Amino acid sequence: MYDKMQAFLKEEIAGIREAGLYKNERIIVTPQGAEIRVNSGAEVLNFCANNYLGLSNNPKLIAAAKEALDTHGYGLSSVRFICGTQDLHKKLEASIAEFFGTEDTILYAAAFDANGGVFEPLMGENDAIISDALNHASIIDGVRLSKAHRYRYANADMADLEEQLKLAQAQRFRLIVTDGVFSMDGNVAPMDKIYELAQKYDAMVMVDECHSAGVVGETGRGVTELFNLRGKIEIITGTLGKAFGGAIGGFTTGKKEIIELLRQRSRPYLFSNSIPPVVAAAGIKMFDMMAETNELQDRLHENTTYFVEKMLQAGFDIKPTRSAICAVMLYDAKLSQDVAARLLDEGIYVIGFYYPVVPKGQARIRVQISAAHKREHLDKCIAAFTKVGKEMGVLKG
Ligand SMILES: *Cc1c(COP(=O)(O)O)cnc(C)c1O
Repeated sequence: MYDKMQAFLKEEIAGIREAGLYKNERIIVTPQGAEIRVNSGAEVLNFCANNYLGLSNNPKLIAAAKEALDTHGYGLSSVRFICGTQDLHKKLEASIAEFFGTEDTILYAAAFDANGGVFEPLMGENDAIISDALNHASIIDGVRLSKAHRYRYANADMADLEEQLKLAQAQRFRLIVTDGVFSMDGNVAPMDKIYELAQKYDAMVMVDECHSAGVVGETGRGVTELFNLRGKIEIITGTLGKAFGGAIGGFTTGKKEIIELLRQRSRPYLFSNSIPPVVAAAGIKMFDMMAETNELQDRLHENTTYFVEKMLQAGFDIKPTRSAICAVMLYDAKLSQDVAARLLDEGIYVIGFYYPVVPKGQARIRVQISAAHKREHLDKCIAAFTKVGKEMGVLKG
């Protein structure tokens, strides 16, 4: 059989290459950070990691992880409900709930699993899930696993959401679900209006804070802080793999009965291993640090404001952002690849995105700002963009 399958796979792969969609992976030989080295030996400034708070290589987190290796071992060899729960896991869950101002938290191996395991146990065939069209793949997959009626509204389009909510009045329970920050544009979901509509049409709200937690809001508490909705949103999902240290791990946090039922019924929780103690311990340390000081958030916000301002002054077309994601619009797919390649020559590591990751004719370079970026890193990035932008004729004015 496999020879037939093999021929088929080779053809599929060739098709991906021909379409110019083949993903090559660059190999980093240093820890993740603002300055990295790749296996060719090149030293570059990294502007494409989700390392928003610069914690991926933080000495305090590394020390906490090392200590946990000695006190709690390497792995749990069990799911949580059999014998995979340590004091560290419970403490981390409590830290997450405190950070978000929620009642309880359940950990998963990744946010992909949190989103994959949240809908099916809660929303049945008599219920409705109303989902933003640009929600993350893991939400889309998770919704597919549930028997609930599905409604979709155009990205952040409140008139459309209202239409869908009207249609969904036919069902018993309604859940509106949205990303907090949409990763390709950097725009924030209009949570204030979403919440209002939820009140008006008797719905619950779920927000995925993967790109917003640690980043958005004065103290990085995410979109519920930005829109003054702490404690009011029923379900929040998030990751430990982005701003919060960047290792691995996901969570769902919110109303306690929801979390309690997820512990009983959520399949990625019941049938997948516990996160390693080192990850739990570093996570606890990270939330302790967040409670002590707002230094990293302040620096991130300062860096983002500075970068966007300078890039606009230089004549770049930047999507309005309220996160640490800056979409530098180039529109043409090939141009986005050429500009990214030229920037790499200049020592700036960024990625160009084009269809089907973004709509046709909306190609861009996504720059991700970090608290780890020093002023000189930002200046070097802006100078490189400006040089390449002039060369390629993409600057306005
Ligand atoms: C990154 C991301 C995820 C997946 O997070 P992992 O913990 O890496 O699985 C889920 N949702 C959104 C919106 C994300 O950006």
